[in-house]
Amino acid sequence: MTTELLKVSNLKQYFPIKGGILGRKINDVKAVDDVSFYVNAGETLSIVGESGCGKSTTGRAILRLDEPTSGEISFNGKDLLALNKREMRKMRKDLQIIFQDPYASINPRQTVRQVLNEAMEIQNVLPKEKREDRMMELMETVGLGAHQLDRFPHEFSGGQRQRIGIARALSVDPKLIICDESVSALDVSIQAQVLNLLKKLQRELDLTYLFIAHDLGVVRHISDRVIVMYLGKIVEIADKKSLFDNPKHPYTKTLLSAIPVPDPTKKKDQIILKGDVPSPIDPPTGCRFHTRCPFATDKCKEEIPELRTSEINMAAGHQAACHYIEEIESGEMTPNY
Ligand code: SF4
Repeated sequence: MTTELLKVSNLKQYFPIKGGILGRKINDVKAVDDVSFYVNAGETLSIVGESGCGKSTTGRAILRLDEPTSGEISFNGKDLLALNKREMRKMRKDLQIIFQDPYASINPRQTVRQVLNEAMEIQNVLPKEKREDRMMELMETVGLGAHQLDRFPHEFSGGQRQRIGIARALSVDPKLIICDESVSALDVSIQAQVLNLLKKLQRELDLTYLFIAHDLGVVRHISDRVIVMYLGKIVEIADKKSLFDNPKHPYTKTLLSAIPVPDPTKKKDQIILKGDVPSPIDPPTGCRFHTRCPFATDKCKEEIPELRTSEINMAAGHQAACHYIEEIESGEMTPNY
């Protein structure tokens, strides 16, 4: 039986822009605009999109590292936005995050032992006398070895530092880990090692991941389901197979067309998008993708497409936010490149 662990409803994250002599608010950066999704216990849901699409902001808003503008976030049946600061700090025991740059999120003056001990102390995880065994166990779990506990972060490689970040997240025994571009800064071979470690830990510890990344290859490796975001909105959501084998939204098709094919005998036509990503301060009306979409019509400029499924060749749970899913699928509409 699947259990919904995290539910995000109508989440908005606007950042005010102030100006003038009085420093009054003159506009907002609409980084995340009315986003809803759920994450089931034990699964990996990935959020993918170009830089600035709102994926990392969504992760930070869930943890209330930035206070959301509006919406609802329910975790394990609890309303996260109703918690006060002390309650939220306590809740972070169950909700951890692994950042892209572990070096920036780990105190360089602390040894690994101090880093792990501090995390457990803040969350009051274990009595002091039991922490040593736990730290040694954690170091073995992430493949670093207990003998490295007294080393400083600068004495480790990038991949090893990310393992310290994972050990720190695991030290408080979380239920859900938000991996925010956690392998993006690593070499490809190290990326694979860390991804495999995350998958192994998920199986062994019954973890749930919200995996935020811009690299579709990485997302394909680790996900159960995938959300594609564009300019603060979800444009497509599906299980991994449906999304990669049968994308419906023109933006997703474009992203997937850019993945290199390892077989040189197979030709793949890359779709090149026109223009740049518009500003989230003044996003396009209607469908936010209309300024770059090769299928856009006047309706796309005026009406916001809802996330929806279609009877045409879409698996259960597969939704896309496009007015013309059926017309594009049947070939009735052709791209205007
Ligand atoms: Fe393109 Fe229109 Fe569909 Fe948006 S709604 S993706 S602009 S066809």
